[in-house]
Amino acid sequence: MANRAPTSAVHEARLVETFCSLASIDSPSGEEAAISAVVAQHLRDLGCTVTTDAKHNVIGRLDGAAATEPIILSAHLDTVEPGRGVRPQLDAGVIRSDGTTVLGADDKAGVAAILEALRTARASGQPMRPIEVVFTVSEEVGLMGARALDMSTLRSSTAVVLDSAGAVGTIINSAPQHDRIDATIIGKAAHAGVAPETGISAIVVASQAIAAMRLGRLDAETTANIGLISGGSAMNVVPERVTVTGETRSHDPAKVESQVRHMVTALEDAAAAAGAQADVEVSTLYRTFNISEAHPLVQSLAAAIRRTGLEPSMHATGGGSDASVFNERGIVTVNLGVGYEAIHSTDEHIAVAELRRLAQVLVALIVP
Ligand SMILES: [Zn+2]
Repeated sequence: MANRAPTSAVHEARLVETFCSLASIDSPSGEEAAISAVVAQHLRDLGCTVTTDAKHNVIGRLDGAAATEPIILSAHLDTVEPGRGVRPQLDAGVIRSDGTTVLGADDKAGVAAILEALRTARASGQPMRPIEVVFTVSEEVGLMGARALDMSTLRSSTAVVLDSAGAVGTIINSAPQHDRIDATIIGKAAHAGVAPETGISAIVVASQAIAAMRLGRLDAETTANIGLISGGSAMNVVPERVTVTGETRSHDPAKVESQVRHMVTALEDAAAAAGAQADVEVSTLYRTFNISEAHPLVQSLAAAIRRTGLEPSMHATGGGSDASVFNERGIVTVNLGVGYEAIHSTDEHIAVAELRRLAQVLVALIVP
């Protein structure tokens, strides 16, 4: 079988150098101006037409010669804290931070793999698929960059986001809907020793509401959690006000809706029974997507993964990513395993071999 994709030409040392130099640039969410300028220049050097928006999202376009539909390759530029002054260390084929910060392989491994794949594909002289690169900002704080991005200029109808846990070869084709619940319980303050009977404890009301809720893993595709509670003012005051923040997720939107109703009802019923007030706000953070394994996007990715000698594996995720936003905007999108480990911790690391395999999969995808 002809293997036209020059996947073996991925230049590992250049890829590692690109990754480490990107990891060394501070880019906590909301402070992406510097890294945005650097990756925009990388894209221009690769021959891309580049636009950057006010949030520092970057779009690069490379018109290919192959008679195929364009495709979006996307990764995010921001990192979580502690992420300032990252000093990447290469040891025994694994890249880590110095132990005081995250590494930022989430998601600069994705960024570096995209840049290396474009370099390799261009250098091969083979006809390339037209590519749109989208580097987003503020993914880690609620997918804010992707949400703010003007996607009307994008020509592709499909996208690949490189931002999932799991070994290279992992394809995330299904993600949940995620709703957030913010409640404020308002009772009545009173002196706890002198006149407790004139007060209504917001803490007691919140406790009763939470105790009445089904939480945790509700079924194979549905979870719910109360993650934050805060309130009260002093030991000797019947607490007047408590805020409660919770969430629910499911791959079935109807289950999200019914669980939200259940949690809101528990809050309202407990408040009503005590003569307190419950102000509850519900917001949908992102919506579910489910891309069929038979979709041409999944098929072409699976073929690209096989061409590098790996076996593709399909998974659902419990988390959100920019893939959710692309799908909401009508661009059929899956998320790929990047091979990073222990993300959002100072132990975050990635094997050089995984980084190389990720770039190779992309080369196989863009040189059809
Ligand atoms: Zn990420």
